[in-house]
Amino acid sequence: MVGHYDENMLPEMLPIYYTRLFPQNIFCRWLTCGSHPQPLSNRELSFTLADDVYLRYLTICNQKELQTLLQKKCPHKLDIGAVYNTKPSIGRHDAVVLSRELVFDIDLTDYDEVRTCCQEAKVCEKCWKFMIIACEIIDRTLREDFGFQSILWVFSGRRGIHCWVSDYEARTLDSPGRGAVADYMCLIMGGDNQNKKVHLGSDNLHSSIRRALAIIDKYFEQLLQEQEFLSTSDRLEKLLKMIPDDTLRSLVKKSLESMPEASLDRWNSFISVYESYCRESGNVRKLRYLVEEIKIQYSYPRLDVNVTKGFNHLLKSPFSIHPKTGKVSVVFKPNNAKNMKLDEIPSIYSLLDDSSPDHVQHETNMRAAVKNFQEVVFSLEKSEAIRRKADANMSLEF
Ligand SMILES: [Zn+2]
Repeated sequence: MVGHYDENMLPEMLPIYYTRLFPQNIFCRWLTCGSHPQPLSNRELSFTLADDVYLRYLTICNQKELQTLLQKKCPHKLDIGAVYNTKPSIGRHDAVVLSRELVFDIDLTDYDEVRTCCQEAKVCEKCWKFMIIACEIIDRTLREDFGFQSILWVFSGRRGIHCWVSDYEARTLDSPGRGAVADYMCLIMGGDNQNKKVHLGSDNLHSSIRRALAIIDKYFEQLLQEQEFLSTSDRLEKLLKMIPDDTLRSLVKKSLESMPEASLDRWNSFISVYESYCRESGNVRKLRYLVEEIKIQYSYPRLDVNVTKGFNHLLKSPFSIHPKTGKVSVVFKPNNAKNMKLDEIPSIYSLLDDSSPDHVQHETNMRAAVKNFQEVVFSLEKSEAIRRKADANMSLEF
């Protein structure tokens, strides 16, 4: 039993978790800042109860009400929605969404066509590397290309990560604006039937793509070896289908099929065949970024763009418990994502059972996660105060 998680224990454990461990105060402060200039009570919360009973349009005015609501309903899952012009409720159809954090949802199931270690709900340290790369690329893009600062990274509870951007400009972005940000970050296009999903053209690359490639390069060889992208004939076939030039494709096929299966060796051989083909043949414009395109197809973030584009898409709250795994949706620092180990992520079970072998470590990691959350909220509060002061000065001038 020790180390295992039993869903039937949730009703008993959740009230204790919400009272003792869920960071209610900082959670309310984060939502308050994100709700401003509307009151916290205009923000939708939604609960999933036992047996998948779903309650939408719950609201709270303060921490005390949150505590009461959590104790009364004991949600197995807690989601956060948008901020309305009025207190939202089921019967109220005139409520209009005014703001909402800009959110990103990255889930490993969207990597099933490239990851080879696991499929569907499964996840391991090897495929977690895809999430590390995604976090690093998205975080840098949000900060460097959009100037956002209040960025919260949260483990989704099972096999993915969420990102919440609370800057005022992000919160008040309209749907087309959200769509534009999502499209800007989207480099992998096309469904299951499309073999080559990345097209970078032949002009000089945009700095954001060069930056993404520099991040990918830090991990690519290791990813290649761990995932063995090219080790079987099926996987090799996938690579060949990404090569748009018939002559080059058959040269690569001949070279790679005749060698041992190790993916790194095959990859290096592909690079040398590609380079010598480009040197020798004149017409290589369309192949200029072939290697970069393939690297991106294997490892660049796959976003659920509908979550980002939607104004009132509900998203699992930080520090909610994943009902299936028992794991806490911890807040992590993007620059520490690479050191995050899946089995070190606290679960409700190990946190509340002091005889669990993981108890001490999980408790430490839970404290660190709350501290990470605080840091983001404190800095959000600071920048909100500056913004409000500037707004007040501006209205005085007029
Ligand atoms: Zn895996």
